[in-house]
Amino acid sequence: MKNFYVLTLFPEMIEGVLSHSIIGRAVKDGVINVECVNIRDFSTDKHRHVDDYPYGGGAGMVMQPQPIYDAYKSIEERAKGSRVIYMSPQGKRFDQKTAEELAGEENLVILCGHYEGVDERVIEEIVTDEISIGDFVLTGGELAAAAIIDAVSRLVPGVLNKEESHEIESFSDGLLEYPQYTRPPVFMGREVPEILLSGHHANIDKWRREQSIIRTYRKRPDMLEGAVLSDKERKFLESLKEEK
Ligand code: SAM
Repeated sequence: MKNFYVLTLFPEMIEGVLSHSIIGRAVKDGVINVECVNIRDFSTDKHRHVDDYPYGGGAGMVMQPQPIYDAYKSIEERAKGSRVIYMSPQGKRFDQKTAEELAGEENLVILCGHYEGVDERVIEEIVTDEISIGDFVLTGGELAAAAIIDAVSRLVPGVLNKEESHEIESFSDGLLEYPQYTRPPVFMGREVPEILLSGHHANIDKWRREQSIIRTYRKRPDMLEGAVLSDKERKFLESLKEEK
């Protein structure tokens, strides 16, 4: 079982997102466990405040270190030496490789900031990794944490069923996935590529691989440098470049 411990001021945001579809099923079946710890429950302030004005002035409020630290302490024993990830626009950019790496961990603690962020001292004290989901600023870390939990969970054995396999899909081999089609065979005059109806699996695999290369070349040429291609496929890629 994989355990996610999420330190947050808004547990409902995480629970709401993760209670549906495939991840919701995995939670229900006990394949993954998502436990939200409400940081506000650890406020020692009689008004349950968890934030205060920034020292040195400036806009907004900063989350105080003590409630976050105590929230972490409440699960530290169970999370047993887990990495503690702070969701932050200043962190390392999240990608499929990081998702694969995190999927190998039994426990993960995720800290979600809010407002202007978190007092630096608690980051220094408990955080092992800072992760960003992109170069933009969200109002809080909850959506980012939910995105990471989703991407990591679907790599955990037993979360996806056979039909939902993640083995051949975008990023798994450094390429984008080939185009997908389902019924009907003709939609708005557009036909499903004939080869997919042929039943000839070797030819279908070859066509899909070529489509992956074409797509990656057109949509994300930056990925091609790291892609693992055979000599034949490299030649195919060169021919695409020449066509242009
Ligand atoms: N003042 C902070 C800064 O400039 O770095 C931004 C704070 S942001 C408004 C509030 C919280 O949202 C952050 O503490 C972080 O947890 C989360 N957050 C915002 N953007 C994010 C991103 N791109 N990736 C991950 N978390 C993000």
